[in-house]
Formats: sequence, structure tokens, C-alpha cells
Amino acid sequence: MHTVVCVKHVPDATDIRFDPITLNLIREGVPSIVNPFCLNAIEEGIRLKEKIGGTVTAVAMGPLQAQEALREALAMGADNAVMVSDRAMAGADTLATSYTLWRTLATVAETNPFDLVLTGKVAIDGETGQVPPGLAVRFNIPIISNVTKIVDVDLNRKTVTAKHRFDDGIETVRASLPAVLTMTEEVNKPRKFTIDGMLKAKRTKLDIWDKTSIRADPNFLGLGGSPTIVKKVFSPPGRKQGEGFDGTTDPRAAAKWLIEKLNSVHAFGSASDKPKPEGSQKSSTEATTTNNESNRFGEVWVWIEHLHGNPASVSWELLGEGKHLADVYGTKLAGVVIGNNASHLAKEAFVHGADKVYLIERPEFEDYRTQPYARAMEQTVKKFKPEALLLGGTIRGRDLAGSAATFLETGLIADCTGLDVDIQTGTFLGTRPDYGGNLMSTIICPKTRPTMASVRPRVMKSLPPSEGRDGEIIKVDVNLNPSDMNTEVLEFVPIEKVGVRLEDAQIIVSGGRGLGQAKYFSLIEDLAKVLHAQVGASRAAVRAGWIGYEHQVGQTGLTVRPRLYFAIGISGAIQHIVGIMNVDYIVAINSDPDAPIFKMADFGITGDLFKIVPAIIDELKKSTEAP
Ligand SMILES: Cc1cc2nc3c(=O)[nH]c(=O)nc-3n(C[C@H](O)[C@H](O)[C@H](O)COP(=O)(O)OP(=O)(O)OC[C@H]3O[C@@H](n4cnc5c(N)ncnc54)[C@H](O)[C@@H]3O)c2cc1C
Repeated sequence: MHTVVCVKHVPDATDIRFDPITLNLIREGVPSIVNPFCLNAIEEGIRLKEKIGGTVTAVAMGPLQAQEALREALAMGADNAVMVSDRAMAGADTLATSYTLWRTLATVAETNPFDLVLTGKVAIDGETGQVPPGLAVRFNIPIISNVTKIVDVDLNRKTVTAKHRFDDGIETVRASLPAVLTMTEEVNKPRKFTIDGMLKAKRTKLDIWDKTSIRADPNFLGLGGSPTIVKKVFSPPGRKQGEGFDGTTDPRAAAKWLIEKLNSVHAFGSASDKPKPEGSQKSSTEATTTNNESNRFGEVWVWIEHLHGNPASVSWELLGEGKHLADVYGTKLAGVVIGNNASHLAKEAFVHGADKVYLIERPEFEDYRTQPYARAMEQTVKKFKPEALLLGGTIRGRDLAGSAATFLETGLIADCTGLDVDIQTGTFLGTRPDYGGNLMSTIICPKTRPTMASVRPRVMKSLPPSEGRDGEIIKVDVNLNPSDMNTEVLEFVPIEKVGVRLEDAQIIVSGGRGLGQAKYFSLIEDLAKVLHAQVGASRAAVRAGWIGYEHQVGQTGLTVRPRLYFAIGISGAIQHIVGIMNVDYIVAINSDPDAPIFKMADFGITGDLFKIVPAIIDELKKSTEAP
């Protein structure tokens, strides 16, 4: 068994700088760490080796400084390490990166063919998750994204079975080997190095390769081989100064103050009166059409994501945003439905703003499976040539987007919070948070079409449904090869049965290390119950075992967008903050008046959580019981 682990060295989110002219990241002097999800991938590779034998090769691409990441992999127990580094590779976007890694892994495989490629689910600097699907496409092998558990590797039958997480449930899937698997933090706890491991890592010779060693075509490398380019980098708008209350002497007064404040801004209110997120869409009436001749631009397409015919609401949100873009381009808005018996989704797409729907139906499309869906998207796009293709920034959406963009060799802008069109040139502009939310980048795709973009749920707003609205359905036939059917879905357990869904919550009450012990986490649950809220947690609380990983908010947990977020006994480390950047109202309760969370909070109470939280629960109960 030979497992290759891709390891990325990422800049620490706390210390990011850019070259003001090239807009490239300045790596010199910036401390780097091994991408945390890559540590899970290394750990899993080593565990498989310990269980069934074989070798683990760690591979890193980047500046030579990234050798440190490989030394860590060796210290943990990897057998070999390959560093691929060349000036020509600088400035690579995800498409050029997957090309380079593909060439590197293909060169590794010449002397030692691999069975598995393990990667992190995303790298915390870019957070796109696009490279692993791109790699799988280039090797024409299956991918299982967001693995929570490797159930079995059967070298005789050449299969791997794994559980992996979607936004709406956990699926068990079997894939043929070789396969690419991307790791979540849930899959294992990475080991610490031993002294022996460190000595071995020092002694082991790293292979250092360049573009010639991997026989790469220079046209596909680095900036030149990247369809997307960064047009602008800017700081995100800061939050306005919050208000504070000293609750150290009178917790009840603090509780009353907080409830009054939250009521005054309707923070407990419904989603309909939610303030519009930064960078969200203009209404279609504000759209100004490009001053170019009509029909110059292709259509704007939205992938209609669904689970067995139940649509994901992000699809309707994207139609809302797509309408604005289509109006600017002076073109039509179309939905793309891939599924089995899914024609009802076309009707729903019309109600939500689509003018047309491309309907691709086959029994093989009953379950979402990366390669067949990506093939269907590729063939439909090549036939009808849209200008832009939008997908939800969900787990399925990212997976499909990364694969389809690689088939189409086009640019993909992940997790946009703003989409627009330059009216003069018709250039599609995707704005996204970068480097752990420290910066915003506007990215364009000047040379290839369509420009693909993903947007996370609840960033854009859907149009009011227009019941009875109709449109044109275009049925599309696609060709699938037997080799495209490279995964088999064995089981799907919906989210209701596997846990919480923090991403959709309107109110989240999160607890941190300040709670001190597992048993005191019930205080967080009690407050959440009174508020009909979901429970969140900092990584410290999760790591202490007080609550499950599915509750973790932050860089290596979930990014959440509730209306109201309580951070209780949470200090406000940058890695926690990046998960709550787009929350409407943040409440912080902390005994330390200098805790960084207060800089983010709209309403902060200084004091002992064990006195303040019960007082808030009490006051809330009183206010709901009052006649
Ligand atoms: C690569 C990487 C990724 C990470 N990803 C994440 C992530 O996704 N999410 C995440 O949360 N963290 C993440 N972290 C960890 C992060 O850096 C912090 O260590 C973590 O968020 C701290 O959790 P905390 O705020 O609960 O604990 P602490 O920082 O220990 O804060 C506890 C707080 O409780 C307060 N407190 C104590 N007692 C009381 C009391 N009685 N009443 C009121 N307040 C009290 C203290 O004043 C303190 O501010 C990551 C770190 C790294 C390196």
C-alpha cells in the first residue's frame, strides 16, 4: 500500500502581508504552519500504514521554506518526502496548482504507484477545497471529499470505503482505488512527534524537484497557467464600535441591559429584517446593462443543488444574484438541473427567477456523485457556452465546482461574498475573503469562459417567489463512460439524525474554555434552549471533549452567519473570529475586560459567566412569561 499525502505550508492567519504592486503574498518573514487538515491527512496515512503496511510519501509544493512541513510529516512517521519548487510555479491559482501536483504525483507513481492520495479538506489560507477535485479529475480517479472516517481499504478488491460529510448528512461511499480522499478534523487527532521521529526527519534526504523533474509544460504553471488573477486586494470593512456593560457587581442589571439592547435592534427577530450582508446583491431594478452590443455575452447559469429532488435554498439565493448579473449582461438566467426524476426542480427554478432550465436526467444521477455530475456539467457547458456559472459554496457545490472547472480548464472563484460585472468591459468580478478573513480580494477570469464562482449559503438573497412563473426547459443528453461511475453510495444518514446544522441557525450560543469543565457546558445549552438557539463552541471546548466537533466555530470548524451570536467564556482568538465575521450581532461575556472578543462584540458584558448567564436566562424566562 502506497499512500501519498499532499502537505501545504500555510502562512499563519495572524501575520499576513502583501506586495502592494504584484498583490502576491509576501512569504519572507511570515511564520508558517502545516495546514491543520493536512496534519489529519498525514496522521491518517500513517495509521493506514500501521494497520495494513506499506509506505507514506509526503509531497509539498511551494517555496523551499515549505520543506519544514515535510520535515514535520517525516517526524510524524512518513517514509519519504518530495518537495517541488520552482520560480515558474509562483502565483499559481487552484487550476495551475492541481496541474503541478498532478505532474508531481505522476512522477512519484513512475517508481512507486500509489493507492491513495490524502489531502486536507481545504487549506486554511485560501479555503477553496478546489485542488483535490482537480487532482482527481486529472488522474481520472474518484474523490471522496470531507472524510470523517475511513471505514475500510480493501487492497484485493482495490476499493476504499469511507464516511464523508455533506451539509445535509453523512454518506458512506465506496470508491475504486486509486482514489483521492480529503480529510476533516473529525477523522483523527494528529500525533505529536517523538524524539526518534525528529531525528529521523533530520536524517532523511528530501527529494527536491523542479519543473523539469516533473516534466511540466511551463504554459500550465504559475501565474501564466492560471485562468484567474487577483485584480484588487483590500481590507474588510471593520465592525462599528460596540457597547459594553460592567457586570461584575450586578449581574442582573447586566442581563437586563443586554436584553433591552438586543430588543432595541430586533436581534431576536426573524430573518426577514436581517440587515443586508456586505457585498450582497443590488436589486435587479438597479442593474445597468453593459454598453456592449446585445448577445455578446453568454447566459448566466446557476447549478440547482438538491438531495434526491429536495432543493438546497442556496440555489434560489444564487438565482436571485444571477438575475442581477444576467440583467447587467443583457442575457438570460438559466438553471442547470442534474438528477433523476428532477423535472419539478425546473418549475421551482422558474418561480425563483430562472428564464430557462437545462435538464439532465438519468438514473445514474439519483445520488450526487462527483465524476458523473462533473461530466454532465462539462458537456452541457461546452455545448451551450454560458458566460458565468454559479454554484453553492456547499460541500457538494465545492466538489462539483472544482471538478467541472478542471474539466473545462476555466477559472473558479470560491466563496464569493460579492459578485458584479464591470459595466465597461463586461468582466465578471468575484470578491471573496482571503487569508482567514483578514483581507478581501476581487478576482477576475479574463481569458477563459465561463467564469465559475461559488457562494456560501445565506450570503445572497433569493427573489420573492413568483408563483406560476414559467420558462423554457431544454433537455440535454450527456455521455458517460463506465470509468466515470467510480463511486458507489452505500448509505446516507440525514443531518437530523447525525447532529446540528449551525450554518442555518438564526441564533447561536457558543461556549469556550472559560466554562472550565464539561458539566458546566449545560449552562450554554440552557441559554440556547430559552432562545431556541443552536449550541456552538470554541476549539478549546471541543478539544477538551466537552462537546462534539460539529459544534466548532472558526477557521477549522464552521463559518456561521446567524443574526445573533453569543461568545461566552471565549477569548476571541483570530481563528475563532474568522468563523463569525459575518454575524449581525455579537454578544461577548467574559471576565477579562481586555479579551480580544470585546473588539468584535456589538454588546459586551465584563463579568463572571456563572453569574451573568443564569441572570440572562432568568430575565428571558420572565419576559416570555410576562402577560
Ligand atoms: C491552525 C489553528 C486553527 C484553529 N482553529 C480554531 C477554530 O476553528 N475555532 C476556535 O475556536 N479556535 C481555533 N483555534 C484555537 C484558537 O487559537 C484558540 O486557542 C481558541 O479559540 C481558544 O478557545 P477559547 O476562547 O475557548 O479559550 P481561551 O483562549 O482560553 O479563552 C477562555 C476565555 O474565557 C474567559 N473566562 C474564564 N473564566 C471565565 C468566567 N468565569 N467568566 C467569564 N469568562 C471567563 C477568559 O477570560 C478567556 O478569555 C485554532 C488554532 C490554530 C493554531
